[in-house]
Amino acid sequence: MLDAFNREINYLRISVTDRCNLRCTYCMPAEGITLMSHNEVLTLEQIAEVAKVGAENFGISKIRLTGGEPLVRKGIVQLVQLLKAIEPIDEVSMTTNGVFLKKFAAELKEAGLNRVNISLDTLSPEKFKVTTRGGNIQDVFDGIQAAKQEGLTPVKINVVKMESSNADELAQLKAFCEKENLKIQFIRQMDLESGSFSQVEGGKGGNCSICNRLRLTADGHLKPCLFSNKSYSTKELGAEGAFQAALYNKPEKGKTSNNHSFYNIGG
Ligand code: SF4
Repeated sequence: MLDAFNREINYLRISVTDRCNLRCTYCMPAEGITLMSHNEVLTLEQIAEVAKVGAENFGISKIRLTGGEPLVRKGIVQLVQLLKAIEPIDEVSMTTNGVFLKKFAAELKEAGLNRVNISLDTLSPEKFKVTTRGGNIQDVFDGIQAAKQEGLTPVKINVVKMESSNADELAQLKAFCEKENLKIQFIRQMDLESGSFSQVEGGKGGNCSICNRLRLTADGHLKPCLFSNKSYSTKELGAEGAFQAALYNKPEKGKTSNNHSFYNIGG
């Protein structure tokens, strides 16, 4: 469906949880976060119902599952099945930190997941441990191989460019992806409150003139733009009312936002 600026909006990014098994320094504050309560978070069926309304009435045909970390959400495989069963939806993909991908890759493929983006900002085990506050990079390498093996392809690697830590590694990361037959995209570190963002290198994100996306938060808010405070509750307005409001009020350009964070909107 077209928004007020004649952009074709067909892509819904769904944050299925604000929880994550890692604590990346550019995403999660050191002092920790206040997690949503179980009652606040949409059930799998409620998420599928919102997606169904979006697909059947508002032209949504692509879904991306994000988090937090989507693979820590109980029933994530079942959710993929529910979403793939919605006729107009022709692609369901996922953005994951890859740590649990080796465990889930076969089941996700079986459930109909099309492809994955995996976050990897360094090839150094030491730097990885520091950036993720304790993660083991071998888990991600195993996840990448499992995704390729199961055909969750093309596998795309998301690299957050951070002057302070991986500026000297970008060429190696590119060479690694070429050698492993992986796609790569570079995301300049963003800041919601100051409104600092740029177009994703190797992707479509961050280009407002052709923006095609809406976002659903884990507690059921439809957000027309990452860099805006606009937010419409599917619980209060119903899914149809929330889609109408989000499409009608989608801003021409992103500015700033201070009512959500990357860990609860999934970038
Ligand atoms: S800032 Fe908003 S309008 Fe621009 S690309 Fe991102 S979501 Fe779309």
